[in-house]
Amino acid sequence: MNLTGKKALITGAYRGIGKTIADLFIANGAEVWGLDYKTPEDLSARVDAAQGKLHWVVADLSKTGEVEEVAKNALKESGGFDILVNNAGITKDNLSFRMSIEDWQKVLDINLTAAFLLSRIVGRDMTQKRAGSIINMASVVGIHGNGGQANYAASKAGLIGVTKSLANEYASRSVRVNAIAPGFIESDMTAAVPDEAKQKMIDALPLKRTGKQEDVAEAALFFASDSSSYITGQVLPVDGGMYF
Ligand code: NAD
Repeated sequence: MNLTGKKALITGAYRGIGKTIADLFIANGAEVWGLDYKTPEDLSARVDAAQGKLHWVVADLSKTGEVEEVAKNALKESGGFDILVNNAGITKDNLSFRMSIEDWQKVLDINLTAAFLLSRIVGRDMTQKRAGSIINMASVVGIHGNGGQANYAASKAGLIGVTKSLANEYASRSVRVNAIAPGFIESDMTAAVPDEAKQKMIDALPLKRTGKQEDVAEAALFFASDSSSYITGQVLPVDGGMYF
């Protein structure tokens, strides 16, 4: 699954799954623009390790009014992207009765609206070039829901709807749009889950382990590469068999 000569924009690349995807794409030949509201402390070491194939874009995706301009600037700087990974995401969990409208809105802004805005700017350029792959990081929660995560579930379900709609709109121009639905993946986002709850979940999982960031990154590599050139509008669970 070679990405040599391809340029990828990956959001939420500072840490976690986004960083792992960026590293894997670079290892497979891609040139990567990492976008995040944080800049890695070791950015120059990361750029050196990537032999210049890593560029950094600082942007806060919660500022939805600025997202289109950020995307246009990144497009200009790169000369156009072959791959877009809408990976940045946050949680602000609470029971629905206690969830503030601010926490509802912020999760939707970052997880859904920013991904839509980036997709249509980058997607327009891809459709003009008649090639490209957009990968949206959804979640099993966007398919099945989860108590205490109405905002997050809504954002990820919405992202699945956007995935299928844009896949439909862009298909005639050979631009593919797919989503990945991770289950429980070890990352800073899930680090706060108490050990007991985690063990209970592992016991219930057919594959009897939590997911690694590499498990998700490998799925992203597949969707980014020509190995998936006849696949669009799909949602791939990477969940250890949580739901089948
Ligand atoms: P993480 O919290 O470790 O990483 C999220 C990244 O998004 C970080 O680099 C963060 O800086 C960036 N980010 C957050 N807010 C931003 C903003 N306003 N502007 C720009 N960047 C911002 O989380 P992760 O576990 O690596 O998750 C990555 C994606 O995978 C998310 O979309 C998440 O919803 C999804 N996901 C994760 C799991 C899991 O179990 N970890 C499961 C299902 C889906």
